[in-house]
Amino acid sequence: MIARRALLATGAAFALLPRATADVGRQDADPRISLRGSREQGGLLIGKVAPNVAVEIDGQPVHVTSQGLFVLGLAWDAEKPIRVHAAFPDAPDYEETVQPVKRQYDIQSITGLPQEYVEPPPEILERMKRERETIWSVRQADTEGAGFFEPLEWPCAGRLSGVYGSQRILNGKPMAPHLAVDVAAPEGTPIHAAADGVVMIADDYYLEGGFTLIDHGHGVNTCYLHQSARFVKAGDAVQQGDVIGHIGETGRATGPHCHWGLCWFQMKLDPSRATKTPMPPSV
Ligand SMILES: [Zn+2]
Repeated sequence: MIARRALLATGAAFALLPRATADVGRQDADPRISLRGSREQGGLLIGKVAPNVAVEIDGQPVHVTSQGLFVLGLAWDAEKPIRVHAAFPDAPDYEETVQPVKRQYDIQSITGLPQEYVEPPPEILERMKRERETIWSVRQADTEGAGFFEPLEWPCAGRLSGVYGSQRILNGKPMAPHLAVDVAAPEGTPIHAAADGVVMIADDYYLEGGFTLIDHGHGVNTCYLHQSARFVKAGDAVQQGDVIGHIGETGRATGPHCHWGLCWFQMKLDPSRATKTPMPPSV
């Protein structure tokens, strides 16, 4: 059973949400609605309207909390303008177009990975498929949690060793882009929950190694990979900053680091665009 988190929404807290580069200097066109966060590809936008206002994104209704909060993610390759429409009961409708800001992504070549992680043996494929499907179904959940509302905290101190969006070449083989960030730190460095939420998966997976996935409400979830130790289990309610595990190099990893992902349903976003600071604290 999923514990329902108390809603933390207040006007004052909302003002504290980070304004990413692409957002700086932008004036909200209408005081009845606001959208805070990065408008770059991979950005997570948090919207706020008066309670009981229906909001649609590209014609699809979105989940609005009783406090009037909603979420919009911008995919890593989003290029088309996104239409945000709010229908106010006794006033004209509001409509805004969000134009994703294009980014330049790096190319990162990684060698020295055990070959069974680049081209997994056939007997492992069934296990990987099962684990992929579990992750997919957990990410479909649209819960009432409001942990997404607060800016994220970096899960650990360390060196940013992998950035979002980079094209990965693993042992010479081109792979899908890296849609998360990596923080490298010594094995045993504590990993903290990036925001309030409920643990949905805490297990050992083939590629992910020691793996924890936390739901923060409205389809927003974060995941923490390659852990050497895990201290929470599925169903646990966690608060921002709680220690959930230790840095390790389990699964597909070449050194101790935390691969940290942020998703809006299945859409992989850039956690470094949703944190209070753009870089992790140093060790
Ligand atoms: Zn990674």
